[in-house]
Amino acid sequence: MTVSSIKIARRGVCLVISAPSGAGKSTIANALRAADPLLTHSVSVTTRAPRPGERDGVHYHFRDLDSFRAMAAAGELIEWAEVFGRGYGTPRAPVETALADGMDMVFDIDWQGHRQLRDALPGDVVSLFVLPPSVAELERRLRGRASDDPAEIERRMAAALSEISHWAEFDHVIVNAELDRAIGEARAILVASRLKTTRQTGLAEMVAGFAPATSPTPSG
Ligand code: 5GP
Repeated sequence: MTVSSIKIARRGVCLVISAPSGAGKSTIANALRAADPLLTHSVSVTTRAPRPGERDGVHYHFRDLDSFRAMAAAGELIEWAEVFGRGYGTPRAPVETALADGMDMVFDIDWQGHRQLRDALPGDVVSLFVLPPSVAELERRLRGRASDDPAEIERRMAAALSEISHWAEFDHVIVNAELDRAIGEARAILVASRLKTTRQTGLAEMVAGFAPATSPTPSG
């Protein structure tokens, strides 16, 4: 067995990435997942309609409001919130399975979801807020993706500024001025979180082998 093949059991990490829309969080989350077989992503439930290209069960589980409320009432959502008047929530079972299997999960949820997840899974959540480099740049990115309707742009800008007001609740913050650098920083946070001593459920047995030999009690 080579040293690099050693796999030590550990509990998975919940990596929460929040940001205003336009900050680049999905791009960062996708880049982390593409390069990392131990990282899965949490597929949320939403009551909003699918956008072009979005697939049920892949980007979201698309449900009507009654089903969403029934899931929440039955405790099947580990956190849920209303964002832009729509229900959004995280299914509980896949999270619990992933963590117990030592798989890490990335969550693209808002600040309300972050608060609830941190309370539901104490010690498992590592959170990261992604900021755009400036207000002007945020506005430019939002204009690029929204319709030209000034009221719509204004609404998106207000929502973004409201999300940003919660940045200091997160463990880490990244300013996404340069994408490759931001991805590298997010990866560093994930790697460091995996190595926390409290997460190493399988290490005690191995470390027992490193115990110093007990020296004979001095006689005299
Ligand atoms: P969108 O509709 O653009 O995909 O997402 C809108 C907002 O809802 C984003 O800020 C996103 O992070 C948030 N969101 C998506 N899924 C969840 C979820 O399961 N829980 C919570 N609390 N927020 C979510």
